[in-house]
Amino acid sequence: MEIIPMIKVSLSDLILIGMALGVVLVCTLWVVAVIRDRRLSQRIRNNTVFCRICGSAYQTESTTEVTVCPVCKTPNEKNTMSAI
Ligand SMILES: [Zn+2]
Repeated sequence: MEIIPMIKVSLSDLILIGMALGVVLVCTLWVVAVIRDRRLSQRIRNNTVFCRICGSAYQTESTTEVTVCPVCKTPNEKNTMSAI
């Protein structure tokens, strides 16, 4: 019968390891949330078109360069909003 060597861990070490794993988990989730938020805001920024006649902003998912304003029906070119 083979004897498996056991590692002795005190209670304080166990608590420390648990807290360290918790901190790593929270940091990982935070980084993932920040990356997802940046991608979402980038997509919204790329799909927003400002009408050159009435000035209204609208969202479009179409890939064509020219879109029609839903307010005044004027064709607009897709423009890129620059970050402030
Ligand atoms: Zn318009």
